[in-house]
Amino acid sequence: MPSLVLSLLFAATAQASIPADDVLARVEWATAVPELTTLLSELLKLRTVNPPGDELLAVDYLDAAFQKEGINTERVLLSDGRASLIARLPGSGKQRPLCLLNHIDVVPVEAARWKVDPFSGAVKDGFVWGRGALDMKGMTALEAMTMIQLKRLGVELDRQVIFLAVADEEVDSQGVDSIVKLWDKVNCSHVVNEGGYGLQDLFFPGQTFHAISVAEKGAVWMKMIASGAPGHGSTPVPGRAPEHLSRALAKLATRKDRVDWNPALMEAFRRTGVEHGGLSGAILQSPGLLKLLVRPKLMKTPPTHAALTDTVNVTGFFGGKAPNVVPSEVGAVLDCRILPGHTAEALIAELTALVDDPAIRFEVTSTTNANQSPWDDPFFAALAERAVEGQEHAVAGPVVSVGYTDSQALRPLGVHAYGYVPFIINGELLATAHGDDERVPVSELQPGLRRLLGAVLDVSLDVPEGARRLLPTTPTGPR
Ligand SMILES: [Zn+2]
Repeated sequence: MPSLVLSLLFAATAQASIPADDVLARVEWATAVPELTTLLSELLKLRTVNPPGDELLAVDYLDAAFQKEGINTERVLLSDGRASLIARLPGSGKQRPLCLLNHIDVVPVEAARWKVDPFSGAVKDGFVWGRGALDMKGMTALEAMTMIQLKRLGVELDRQVIFLAVADEEVDSQGVDSIVKLWDKVNCSHVVNEGGYGLQDLFFPGQTFHAISVAEKGAVWMKMIASGAPGHGSTPVPGRAPEHLSRALAKLATRKDRVDWNPALMEAFRRTGVEHGGLSGAILQSPGLLKLLVRPKLMKTPPTHAALTDTVNVTGFFGGKAPNVVPSEVGAVLDCRILPGHTAEALIAELTALVDDPAIRFEVTSTTNANQSPWDDPFFAALAERAVEGQEHAVAGPVVSVGYTDSQALRPLGVHAYGYVPFIINGELLATAHGDDERVPVSELQPGLRRLLGAVLDVSLDVPEGARRLLPTTPTGPR
């Protein structure tokens, strides 16, 4: 009897379970990689520069690629020439869907400064070049190829896997807003989107840190307006608006940093320390020593300074029409970014107290709230495990993004959103996103696809309870 039960069990397991690694072994990498290179190169040829966007060009291209594979698609039209694309792979519905999110618009270029035509899709000197290669058509190509591979391999999924290529991330977020409106039809529990990368030598030489964004700072854009009586430019009179403004700006420059040690960053430092070992590693694992010894360096480095504090950045000025007229109002434009848990109201109260001048007022022009996903999560664990797989001296950890992405619009719907583009790059390449000569190494396309496809399989394969790859998760919060 026991032997009969056992053989039945084995038969059932053999039939139903396809562990993720077995699926990865069935991928025809020799053809998948050139296909992926072509897919990315073709996407980079499409001028989806926002404004105006023209994302329909990329929607048409991706739609055709999915149709050829028999993958269901649906367009969400925004306006003339602008659309987003949804593609779906069916699943048994045991889990809520998983979304592969990307945006297909790109920022403008200064083409004359580039070594290649930014819209040629050039594959040259070991790189795929073009505006959007990193931000974020490289990820679009990885996500599309993940869908295509899952379909071709006939993988049984226990949840829908939904590809979302949205318009207008770089300007107004109309694309993700239109997806939010039809969320009933999407309803993902988890999303992977842009955010971090695998960054070489980030904290220690020789160590790669895979930054998986779990949170984004909120953006509070405002005007700081000074008012006073107008008058003739020939005769200086104390208390006029420009004088109030320059005093207020001088006070803003004295603003003290208030560090908020976000638990995500503490966890990232802890993991980095564990991997690195030694005295430096021990310091990173100790919150007390970290705050005492590493704080000055973190505050001096603009990206970590921005990740640990609410920032106030003067980005423009307005007011005054003629050199000989003192205007009644002049102002500065402030781009302020606040950490998760902080509010625009608290920041305005702080700035009002600091400036301490009734002739100055703050007017908020737009706000997005900071939000955060947990990292004690199976999909986060899968992304982190696949990120470091097969590498020496690599670590993956949660970070706070200082910029905005479309993930911010989805977290209020209860979505766990993670920002991770699975390419390993260095600081020089990272600086090409939104800059000149944006490019991605051809050598990262295969590992990138493997990392993403592996993580998707880890959390979506329809396998019996217990046959799923068990991944270590860590609790949310500092240790
Ligand atoms: Zn982007």
